[in-house]
Amino acid sequence: MPSSDAALIDGREIAQAVRDEVKAEIDDWTDTHRPPFLSAVLVGNNPASKAYVRGKEQDAAEVGIETNTLHFDVDLPEAELLDTVHDLNEDPSVDGILVQLPLPDHIDDRGVIDAIDPQKDVDGFHPTNLGRLMRGNPSFIPATPYGIVTMLDRCGIDPEGMDTVIVGRSNIVGKPLANLLMQRDRNATVTVCHSRTQDLAAHTRRADLLVAAVGQAEMIGADMVKDDAVVIDVGINRVEDESKERGYRLVGDVDFDAVRPKASWITPVPGGVGLMTRAMLLKNTMTAARLHASA
Ligand code: NAP
Repeated sequence: MPSSDAALIDGREIAQAVRDEVKAEIDDWTDTHRPPFLSAVLVGNNPASKAYVRGKEQDAAEVGIETNTLHFDVDLPEAELLDTVHDLNEDPSVDGILVQLPLPDHIDDRGVIDAIDPQKDVDGFHPTNLGRLMRGNPSFIPATPYGIVTMLDRCGIDPEGMDTVIVGRSNIVGKPLANLLMQRDRNATVTVCHSRTQDLAAHTRRADLLVAAVGQAEMIGADMVKDDAVVIDVGINRVEDESKERGYRLVGDVDFDAVRPKASWITPVPGGVGLMTRAMLLKNTMTAARLHASA
């Protein structure tokens, strides 16, 4: 058994460092160029989506990225959304485009993502960008996996040779992260688990590096974690808590208190991967501005 609690991978501190670096880069950039410009598209009134977009606008303003948000009614026809994306693609004042997901049911998310100019696709979800990631020469890395590898890098955790288990195979987390970690610059040996995996615990228990991206509160308990594992918790789940003014608290997919004594490193929720995701979007927007200026 490990002799003490896992060291905390402090998303607050690392995300702040990334934001400071992006701000310094933008300060230099604006000596000779206009500020990077990010356009967000929001359809409908989903409170979580509205809060995410507001957060992204605030983050951007803090580092010197200009933004505007196009906010449409929930019944916006798909064709009009595609026209909007097309206009943003053509607009020379726009460097990055972000369409907040999920979109209403009558709109095909994939068609909209496919319509974004890959050079402005700061979320990195366009097939061209996912293909480049898979090939090993990414332009834009989706922000959550990008945040996770940045955390590992900044903590000096080298995944080379690590038996790595990712629980969750979404297009925004599990799949791109598996690709990033298995590339020749990181050399992890990766297993991706999902809801059809048999005996999940048998996989997670052999993981030197365990990533939980499921969306089920505290489902990874201490008995599912190897001694001294590095544990990355992507999950953000609300659990009722009447002692909180808002009536709930946020927890991850990992039972933090139970797992921390067993692990060597662990990310908290909140204060972990979520803050990194926000910071990496800023970095991607600066990348978009550079790409755009050199096009
Ligand atoms: P998602 O698209 O719903 O994918 C969840 C994945 O978990 C799926 O692959 C699913 O398997 C798998 N799964 C579900 N139940 C399982 C079980 N009992 N055993 C094993 N695998 C199971 O979710 P997501 O968008 O990737 O998000 C996952 C979590 O991360 C959510 O809590 C979300 O809020 C959070 N998140 C956080 C950030 C951040 O910045 N921190 C960013 C994105 C997402 P199937 O494929 O078989 O259905």
